[in-house]
Amino acid sequence: MSDGVSGSASSGGTMSAANVEPAGEAQRLLGELIRFDTVNPPGAERAAQEHLAAHLTAAGFACELLGAEPDRPNLVARLRGDREGPTLCYLGHVDTVLADPAEWNSAHGPWSGDVAEGYVWGRGALDMKSQVAAETAAAAALARSGWRPARGELLIVAVVDEETGGALGAEWITREHPEAVRCDMLVNEGAGCVFEYAGARRYGVCCAEKGVFRFTVTTDGVAGHASMPSMGENALLKMAPLLARLGARQPSYELTAEPRAFLAAIGEDPDDPAGSIARLRAADERLATMFEPMLGVTFAPTRISASEKINVIPSRAVLKVDCRAPPGLGEEQVRRAIAEVLDPTHPSNHSATHPEEGFRIEFTERVVGNRSPMASPLMDAISEWISERDPGARTVPTILPGFTDSRHFRAAFPDCVAYGFFPQRHQSLLQTAPLIHGANERIDVRDLAFAAEFYRDLALRILG
Ligand SMILES: [Zn+2]
Repeated sequence: MSDGVSGSASSGGTMSAANVEPAGEAQRLLGELIRFDTVNPPGAERAAQEHLAAHLTAAGFACELLGAEPDRPNLVARLRGDREGPTLCYLGHVDTVLADPAEWNSAHGPWSGDVAEGYVWGRGALDMKSQVAAETAAAAALARSGWRPARGELLIVAVVDEETGGALGAEWITREHPEAVRCDMLVNEGAGCVFEYAGARRYGVCCAEKGVFRFTVTTDGVAGHASMPSMGENALLKMAPLLARLGARQPSYELTAEPRAFLAAIGEDPDDPAGSIARLRAADERLATMFEPMLGVTFAPTRISASEKINVIPSRAVLKVDCRAPPGLGEEQVRRAIAEVLDPTHPSNHSATHPEEGFRIEFTERVVGNRSPMASPLMDAISEWISERDPGARTVPTILPGFTDSRHFRAAFPDCVAYGFFPQRHQSLLQTAPLIHGANERIDVRDLAFAAEFYRDLALRILG
């Protein structure tokens, strides 16, 4: 472990920089970060941010804390090179979702940061204090070794408030201080856990995130006294066939560039998405569950309301549907998908038995998905590193069904290439996914080391 401050080191020390070992530092830093309770709301991230700022300042970074609220500053840490060049930004968030200690292994609670059984335990061990710790440790170790970018600059940006949408975090800082966080390449959360398929190891690189087209479905009826059920016209019962249709199917696949590239990269046929998903499902149901949403618009009904009173037949019922659409698809495609699934007169619903019922659709959120090009020098650097460090494995582009802070950076800096990538080779995607936002969140210490080495090597590759 190279924790000693080498004050006499000079710039251009790339040989020694390549040999710095950030693993131990990343592990210690992750434990420290977990022990700051940053459950959002309320977040209260200041103490954690000051801790990171002190760590990076001591290593040689110029640090700023910029926030909309005193208790919730964002950290921008900068290491400039000698010449003009690209700005590489490592982005992370230090807030977490809540955790109920009663649901956790009593020996290693959500704010323990314990190292035990080969894991670091605690809320944020995966989402995403691990990545913040790995990025910070790698950057600090490089800076302490005397390394400075030969060109461009390295930015570490740790934001607050991601888990509730980023209003005080990434959204705020890209709007209020764009010059502080402007970057050409960005690495954030979103993918990177290894998965095996068809005998090969693959690492997802998240190139895109789905958009949100949430809508309500409203049915109308006539109010009446519930003691005489046929007196009125029950709007809630008119929802039954609509719910049945939502439960029976999703809209047809509509493959954009990313899922086509994904299917090709895992050895499947982009022109046969149904067959591809069937084969994924046969290999492991969970792979199909995780990857199928990339292939088109999805609907998930999540809330319903009707009569306010138990004894009144409702004249109106409202169903809320969470709808996600891949980047490249917008309201027009979503409306087509709604008609396909819900409209009884649509050709796809020839077996529908209630051609008379009506409903209304209203959008409550319309946010198109965001993406970065799949081919770029940053992708090349990531892919080369994976093939060197895990021979035979390869990277595959993925779309996140949800969204991250990357969307704010892509919106603020249209030329910025942003990917989600935190490489894990021991703790696989199938092991990791259920722990995110779940009980007993933990990360394999070998993966924390693997990731920290990746962030070290990526900075050296991109910035020299
Ligand atoms: Zn996260």
